[in-house]
Amino acid sequence: MERVVIIGAGHAGVELANALRQSAFAGSIALVNDETDLPYQKPPLSKDFLKGDGRNPLMLKADVFYTQNDITLMRGRRVASIDRAAKTVRLDSGEDLPYDHLALALGARNRRLALPGADHPDVLELRTLADTQRILARLPALGRVAIIGGGFIGLEIAACLRGKQIDVDILEIADCLMGRAVSTPISSYFRSLHEAMGANIHFGAQARSIEHGADSVHLHLAGGGSLTADAVLIAAGVVPNIELAAAAGLATGNGILVDEHLLTSDPSISALGDCVAFPCVHAGGVARLESVQNAVDQARTIAKRLTGTPQPYTSLPWFWSNQGTARLQIAGLGAGHDSAILRGDVEAHKFSVFLYRGDRLICVESVNSPGDHLAARKLIEKNVPVPPEIAARADVDLKSLIA
Ligand code: FAD
Repeated sequence: MERVVIIGAGHAGVELANALRQSAFAGSIALVNDETDLPYQKPPLSKDFLKGDGRNPLMLKADVFYTQNDITLMRGRRVASIDRAAKTVRLDSGEDLPYDHLALALGARNRRLALPGADHPDVLELRTLADTQRILARLPALGRVAIIGGGFIGLEIAACLRGKQIDVDILEIADCLMGRAVSTPISSYFRSLHEAMGANIHFGAQARSIEHGADSVHLHLAGGGSLTADAVLIAAGVVPNIELAAAAGLATGNGILVDEHLLTSDPSISALGDCVAFPCVHAGGVARLESVQNAVDQARTIAKRLTGTPQPYTSLPWFWSNQGTARLQIAGLGAGHDSAILRGDVEAHKFSVFLYRGDRLICVESVNSPGDHLAARKLIEKNVPVPPEIAARADVDLKSLIA
């Protein structure tokens, strides 16, 4: 194979280019991205970068990395279509790029809400560096921000804004925070944490319309009532970028569908990262994950396959989120757990929740307990039995259970 074209230069696309070179791939690599910035890390956007600490540690790789590794980085260029018969992709400039293997690392985009006023240009969102810079430019004039969505991104942003003494209303349609992603004890802990930081959390709150006044925004809620703020930020989750793949006739669902080797329904096209729905051994079915770990490990799996050592993608999912003084780290997937064991001290803001399905440990959620997190990753990966009564004992060193 001589020519690899990668569409998308987020965590997934950049790591695929890197891993191919590290695996001694000697062919050409073209990395096409529609954003003009040098490829950057996303997690700091809603954390340190938004706190405005003046540092800019966002680049995924220094610009010399691309030239030194003979990777043709095409910035500000969008792939408009894929011609699978001709094995070319067409850029929006009209230029065609030939490939022997194509990798789709298209990521996801923020979910749009179908509400009157939601598409107004003053509405804020956060997915890209440009979005964050726009928020930072507006912050000095903001005294109160309404955030629609009590998931990871909305809550990380809320914590940053409270750190700047900006009042925050969080509107969450469900009756708990991060409900799709964490257990009840963790959700409750973060509710208390955000309330202690001064956030106003509105559960069961659904915006019906957003009315933009001269210098304030009014959110009208389903069921009556309204909220007034200086700005509204929508953090209502993401949708995978599947349209390019679907238009090329590839199988799609809640993501571009791939097999356990991350191959699409076309053997010359792989897909990876946020845009992919894959058979996940840890979920027990098809899953689409949004995490750096998933993007990076899938990239490495594809690079190995393309350089002659194929293996199925089975990495254990892990994730983190920083909110105020709490660093949450999650090892494994907790959906479908039937019991939860607490280890550590919630009052001291240092604890973990061990989640079991039957007697099998499937997920550990740790708050300010990096040692528990690292041990949990190994324990779950190696399927080591961890009896609940042992997990609960903070005096037992979890590392001692790992053979
Ligand atoms: P993306 O990073 O979305 O990159 C895809 C790129 O492809 C984009 O630049 C897109 O514009 C481009 N593209 C799409 N279509 C085309 C086209 N047709 N032509 C050319 N280019 C195209 N994960 C964690 O694990 N921990 C965290 O703490 C965490 N925090 C986060 C905070 C924020 C604010 C955000 C937005 C995400 C966070 N994530 C976090 C998630 C993590 O960043 C993503 O899972 C990861 O970025 C996915 O990488 P990706 O390469 O699949 O997609």
